[in-house]
Amino acid sequence: MEKDLTVGKNVYNLAKKIYPYHRCLMGKGVEDTLYILKEYVEKDTNVKFEIKQIASGTKVFDWEVPKEWEIKEAYISDEKGNHIIDIKNNNLYVVGYSTSVDRWVDLEELNKYIYTQKDQPEAIPYVTSYYKERYGFCMSENQRKSLTEQKYHMYINSSLFNGNLTYGEVVIPGERKEEIFFSTYVCHPSMANDNCSGPALAAELIKYIYSVKNRKYTYRFIFVPETIGSISYMSINDNLRIMKERIIAGFNITCVGDDNCYSIVKTRYENTLADKVITNVLKNNNLVNCIIYPFTKRGSDERQYNAPGIDLPVVCFCRSLFHEFKEYHTSLDDMNYISPEGFQGSFRILTQVIEVLENNEYYKINVLCEPQLGKRNLYPTISKKGSYDEVKAMTDFIVYADGTNDLIDISNIIGVDCMKLIDIVRKLFDEQLIVKVY
Ligand code: ZN
Repeated sequence: MEKDLTVGKNVYNLAKKIYPYHRCLMGKGVEDTLYILKEYVEKDTNVKFEIKQIASGTKVFDWEVPKEWEIKEAYISDEKGNHIIDIKNNNLYVVGYSTSVDRWVDLEELNKYIYTQKDQPEAIPYVTSYYKERYGFCMSENQRKSLTEQKYHMYINSSLFNGNLTYGEVVIPGERKEEIFFSTYVCHPSMANDNCSGPALAAELIKYIYSVKNRKYTYRFIFVPETIGSISYMSINDNLRIMKERIIAGFNITCVGDDNCYSIVKTRYENTLADKVITNVLKNNNLVNCIIYPFTKRGSDERQYNAPGIDLPVVCFCRSLFHEFKEYHTSLDDMNYISPEGFQGSFRILTQVIEVLENNEYYKINVLCEPQLGKRNLYPTISKKGSYDEVKAMTDFIVYADGTNDLIDISNIIGVDCMKLIDIVRKLFDEQLIVKVY
């Protein structure tokens, strides 16, 4: 259970604010969302949340930036003119990227254009058609079954045009050029966990990182439409070369607002600093229920970051993994599915990851044999319950601080939380008993 929910509530409210917008790959819904995130970040920090664009038609690796979509109206009405569905009430009612239509049809014909989720008859499914021009509607299976034999009016007023793929980028400089990378996406319409939770939490993390004094690393955040956005971002300017040169650990953030167990999707070979730090932090939070998935369970932008030739050290971090919760990609993934508690937990884990990375060095004890802790007030002269554990952790840390293990290695060997070891490291530094080894 999370005790202080202050941050969780702020993130929840931010997710709630962006929830209603009609996002898709490209278009006004994405831009409006980015401006809300920008305002949230910039009002409390000097960080610059940049909003940038890439034109439709731009070749990006094996893909091309598609057209922009604008949706003005979409509904189905019955013979009496009643709107049986209307995107004014829920923007999942229209298939994303639908072309325009203005047709009266009978029920049999109408059914050809309606998508439902038969195994979840009360849910409206989320359906898109980004790369083939078509039109369509979504509704619950229950509603579809209730439709009677009559004429229906299918009406969509939309346009597809050469526009821009819009994305957000934040770089927070640190002492070193090496970067910690966070990626999240902003392309789904009104669904809470997938995907309002990711950008809302990322915006809060930017504020947290800004508050970290003497930041060692530089932090890069991007807010992109899924798949085409991460592909485009890496393919333009000199981004891929810079990312490959600088990123030492990265995290794709999605589905982080629910209160179920944590999940990660590891990198292709599970051997990067990102894999190592997140596994350690989850384990040390006694999260016996956390699920660690191999790369074969990939589903979000970690697919692009880990592709052959890209090979960036990026894991995916979630509460419930996409595809694994039944509300996923339906109208049931609403603001009731996520909670301040869920966000608070995700925030706690990721801020610990950041703190561990900031303190993760190879340490070496600089005296021979055991140091005399007593004369430095590091060894209690009176024995009481609890003090033994701390001394044991310190002496265990010291015996493995031989310059060949980093902080996380030592935590893994001696079974003590990195957060406790960071405290111990500070004490040992104060007494000049350890040095960093580069
Ligand atoms: Zn999704």
